[in-house]
Amino acid sequence: MTAAYVALGTNLGDRLLNLAEARRQLRLLGALTEGLVFETRALRMPGDTAPQPDYLNTVDRLETGLGPLALLRQLQRIEALMGRRRTYRWGPRVIDLDLILHGAQTMRSAALTLPHPRAHQRDFVRWPLRFFGVELPGA
Ligand code: AMP
Repeated sequence: MTAAYVALGTNLGDRLLNLAEARRQLRLLGALTEGLVFETRALRMPGDTAPQPDYLNTVDRLETGLGPLALLRQLQRIEALMGRRRTYRWGPRVIDLDLILHGAQTMRSAALTLPHPRAHQRDFVRWPLRFFGVELPGA
């Protein structure tokens, strides 16, 4: 079993319901410990002026037997199942699931980079992680 950390973000529809449904799905993959939830302004592409609703963000800890790629596939399956439509980069979404850490695993491929390459720049990822006693390298 490995402790993986999954970042959840939602800014469309009933955000609390979206988090609850994503967490229900995550619980099918292992033992889940819920992280603290923060409300944050949407990240925008430079020059994007379209109004975007605020996010709810958190990071949950998932103790799982799944390896990193198998877990990523499951996260993508949950995103698809919850009706995530790919609009544009950093566009609004029902649910975004990112794999931040998978144990001490490091890897860099097109499909998966661990630790997540941009997570250490995001307070809404670093804050919940800190409550688990986890500091990201590069932070
Ligand atoms: P998005 O879900 O739009 O944030 O982008 C996900 C894309 O980034 C997918 O094509 C993944 O294969 C890739 N990716 C690379 N590293 C990660 C990671 N640590 N967590 C989630 N997706 C990743």
